[in-house]
Amino acid sequence: MKILVSGASIAGLSTAYWLVRSGHDVTVVENSADPRRGGVAVDVRGEALEVAREMGVLDEVTRNRVPTEDIYYFLDAAGRVEAQFTPSTQFYDSPGDIEISRDSLSDILRAAVPPGARFRYGESVAAVRELADGVEVRLTDGTTQRVDLLVGADGMHSNVRRLVFGPEQRFVRHLGLYVGIVKRSAAGAGLAGSHVYNIPGRMVMLRGDGVDCSAVLGFRSAWLDYDFRDVAAQQEIVTDAFRAEPGWRVPEVVDEIGRDAHFYFDSVGQVRMDGWSEGRTVLVGDAGYCASFFSGMGTSLAMIGAASLARELAAAGDDLSVALPGYDRAMRPVVDEAHEMANGGADILFPVTAEDIEERNARLREAARA
Ligand SMILES: Cc1cc2nc3c(=O)[nH]c(=O)nc-3n(C[C@H](O)[C@H](O)[C@H](O)COP(=O)(O)OP(=O)(O)OC[C@H]3O[C@@H](n4cnc5c(N)ncnc54)[C@H](O)[C@@H]3O)c2cc1C
Repeated sequence: MKILVSGASIAGLSTAYWLVRSGHDVTVVENSADPRRGGVAVDVRGEALEVAREMGVLDEVTRNRVPTEDIYYFLDAAGRVEAQFTPSTQFYDSPGDIEISRDSLSDILRAAVPPGARFRYGESVAAVRELADGVEVRLTDGTTQRVDLLVGADGMHSNVRRLVFGPEQRFVRHLGLYVGIVKRSAAGAGLAGSHVYNIPGRMVMLRGDGVDCSAVLGFRSAWLDYDFRDVAAQQEIVTDAFRAEPGWRVPEVVDEIGRDAHFYFDSVGQVRMDGWSEGRTVLVGDAGYCASFFSGMGTSLAMIGAASLARELAAAGDDLSVALPGYDRAMRPVVDEAHEMANGGADILFPVTAEDIEERNARLREAARA
């Protein structure tokens, strides 16, 4: 089949890997001019570890894992530790989980895509028209392609989902939070583990491995209207949210926001859909089932979803009327479980009031004693 994939991140690269391996003619279009960099560590866990092994990348992913200590320290304004906890003992239970920098994982997956896939950076889908025997896709360069299958792997704010399924508001459930990430923060150099300072409704986290450190700045907010592609505007939004805060190392971190060329900013949300295909278009990864920053499952879901789609296509002899409902059925329990896992993280990381911060710390101290 002739297949067009929109998005060249974890979902798009994994999809390209599997579909080229199955013998399909695959083109990937990616909005950014180059492979998109940024973000902190992501997790490969549960069934995604087996998918990585089947893709032949598990050893390399393991070699590149980040040795981050799985401990969260909650600090006061002077940097003293008030409480701490270890999420792996409370939230996650899959043995062998791997934490790896998002950029390293993207590079590994990109290198794994077998020869034959075409990558077109700085390109996007402009319009989609379903035909009796295919999909006509117009690209932003004005050219038109007729393909047998269109895959939207273009993230939580998916362009393909908007064009084929409808407006974002119908599918994205905003969880009331925004997160900005400074990939390399000098303010936290040398720190090991995740060091969290809370101001009511806001959080600054320095997360390091003893050498390198990233900074995560998050705040509670109703839906904000901003341009997803305007990084300077996003840097301004996060800087404004923390500008007057003198506590801990916040001023140093805030200073770094505008200097990070790969600054990443997004809302924390979940994509909820009844089904992930419409005609000859199918969604993979965050585009179809983003589980949010708090689930720790976004990357794993994207890898599992890509493998599942390829498996269903192969089993159905590329009959889309069988394969796409099969993909829905296979992914539904995995997605539902990941969506469930996102519950709870916000209360711990983003207490709303000063009393909530106190109460959280007391609860964690009590749990540690028990
Ligand atoms: C720069 C960046 C940093 C991130 N950092 C973190 C992090 O630190 N922690 C974390 O848990 N998650 C992070 N994520 C999200 C994480 O990558 C995903 O939750 C998960 O890996 C699933 O990946 P995905 O490929 O479905 O979506 P994404 O990783 O969001 O990838 C979507 C891809 O589609 C591209 N795209 C968007 N619009 C279009 C368009 N119109 N046409 C073509 N391509 C388009 C994007 O540029 C991107 O390459 C980050 C995502 C990005 C893009």
